[in-house]
Amino acid sequence: MFRIGQGIDFHKITTKETNPKPLILGGIEIESNYTIIAHSDGDIILHALSDAILGALGEKDIGEYFPDDIQETKNLDSKIILKKTLEIAKEKQFIIQNIDITILSEVPKIKPFREKIKKNLSILCNIDTQQIAIKATTTETLGFIGRKEGIGCFAIVLLRKL
Ligand code: ZN
Repeated sequence: MFRIGQGIDFHKITTKETNPKPLILGGIEIESNYTIIAHSDGDIILHALSDAILGALGEKDIGEYFPDDIQETKNLDSKIILKKTLEIAKEKQFIIQNIDITILSEVPKIKPFREKIKKNLSILCNIDTQQIAIKATTTETLGFIGRKEGIGCFAIVLLRKL
């Protein structure tokens, strides 16, 4: 039995001069002059992926488990969010079949970090890199992403029942 899920996440970005917080994507630090403004570590990839897993399981969104308005989740390592969603999947006897991720960003450019992110996701999710796609697109300078004010991520995941 298969279950499909979708997750979407957006955050504001700013320059490191304004906010020296490290930029974390897919659980790794990305070298960039920009960073993500968020209550947690702002890892849009892990947020979208976690929501996709919860969606496939018919669960509520990550905000239900990790509210962004409490002190306990301040600067939260999003690997903890992913770990929790994988635990819920495991309890329900589902494993990940494949993950398809699309990042919308003007900055940072994803290409130089694509393989590193993919490798780290494969470790975090305990699946092969061949089961993961990391795609990136710009918005051709349009809108808040084009103006380098924000960054977005779409994730689709297919789960398979053991
Ligand atoms: Zn988020």
